[in-house]
Amino acid sequence: MAGILAARVLAETYERVTVVERDRFHADADHRRGVPQGHHFHTLLLRGTRLLDTLFPGLSDELVEAGAVRTNLLGQARVVLAGHELCRVTTGHTIQLTRPLLDRHVRARLAAVPNVKLLDGCEVGGLRTTGDRVTGVRVAHRTGRVVAETITADLVVDAMGRAGRTASWLPGLGFDAPPQERIKADIAYVSRLVRFPEHARPADQLVLVGAVPGRPRGFILGRQEDDRWMLTVVGMAGDHPPTDDAGLLDFVATAAPADVMASIRAAEPVEEPSTHRFPASVWRHYERLRRFPAGLLAFGDSICSFNPVYGQGMTVAALEADALRRCLADGEQDLARRFHRAAARIVAPAWQLNAGGDLALPEIEGHRPLSVRLVNRYVARLQRIAEHDPVVAATFLRVAGLLAPPSSMMAPRILARALTRR
Ligand SMILES: Cc1cc2nc3c(=O)[nH]c(=O)nc-3n(C[C@H](O)[C@H](O)[C@H](O)COP(=O)(O)OP(=O)(O)OC[C@H]3O[C@@H](n4cnc5c(N)ncnc54)[C@H](O)[C@@H]3O)c2cc1C
Repeated sequence: MAGILAARVLAETYERVTVVERDRFHADADHRRGVPQGHHFHTLLLRGTRLLDTLFPGLSDELVEAGAVRTNLLGQARVVLAGHELCRVTTGHTIQLTRPLLDRHVRARLAAVPNVKLLDGCEVGGLRTTGDRVTGVRVAHRTGRVVAETITADLVVDAMGRAGRTASWLPGLGFDAPPQERIKADIAYVSRLVRFPEHARPADQLVLVGAVPGRPRGFILGRQEDDRWMLTVVGMAGDHPPTDDAGLLDFVATAAPADVMASIRAAEPVEEPSTHRFPASVWRHYERLRRFPAGLLAFGDSICSFNPVYGQGMTVAALEADALRRCLADGEQDLARRFHRAAARIVAPAWQLNAGGDLALPEIEGHRPLSVRLVNRYVARLQRIAEHDPVVAATFLRVAGLLAPPSSMMAPRILARALTRR
């Protein structure tokens, strides 16, 4: 996804843009090996939905036309954070759809850009360099006989996801590897698509129940295209959901409200459960490097791979695409330093939410300085107030949706509510 968004922006500046992808793109295939997370619930945060519409005008209408479900947050969504159900405010609309449907449409929109070429079935194996400058990539075509080739380029963008190679390539090129931050959340997802008989349809189009201290598990149930619903069950800090039917139901029952659980018990599975392990959130600080090769950028998950429960990855990638557009508008001089700094400013607030949320769970290992403990106590208080205070609930959603910075939870009118309400 990040590579597609970067390519959309690069096509405005460069004569030719080539997207190199290891998997084959099949117009009708549901899932790709390179995106195993596509089997699990993917939400587009409020900010991400808006940005995708900027990069690809009319995209969300097109997706709804193709079957995606538009959901009024929180008119049609029930969100329970740390055991507190947010009161029903309206903050905007999100769209719910399977990741393969989203990817297909975004890719088709990119493919329609005249100076973009999608090269699938082609694996990047290394960089081509000239002096301190990256001047292309070495690739192997995997369709039929393996054929090696070097593609020359003025700019190479590493959007190879969490396993992005830039960090490991840098030392071989005579540069330092970036310092890394990690939060070991030890998460497992178990997901399956289900259908509901008419009498058991959930009252809301989206139900999200987060973890609480002492119970580091939760779930998301969301309606998607073709009237199928994705049930994604999440366990953190090693408290992983089982995959057998009875065990999975028992696991969800420890977190689900009774009426939602009754629906889930009546659901008819459409497919076998899929699992995904996510050991840790990782932030590679490219912006802190004093030297970085010209002609190369890291992008998307290759910079920062967030705990997926916060649904931030695609929105952050879209924000980075927007930042790249602005950096390129100022020319290519010192591009890597300018872009990585801009990306760090985007990642920082999302990481703060990610780290704050994770470290609020005593089960998750990590250093909790006084500042984190104080903020988490304050946030816990606000979550309680958000059960009945629409202003606080809306602020939460805007911050979680990356529409507002975490500091807006400290704005005077929110502070006043935290001090005066229960
Ligand atoms: C379980 C789970 C749930 C998630 N839920 C959400 C969510 O709800 N909302 C959200 O916004 N984000 C979510 N994310 C994160 C989201 O999937 C990513 O942030 C998003 O896909 C952007 O990542 P990316 O494009 O940088 O990397 P990826 O999506 O991982 O894509 C990397 C691409 O690079 C290709 N590739 C890798 N190596 C090579 C190579 N050597 N040569 C050529 N191609 C290569 C891969 O095949 C793949 O297509 C979730 C992640 C996980 C794991």
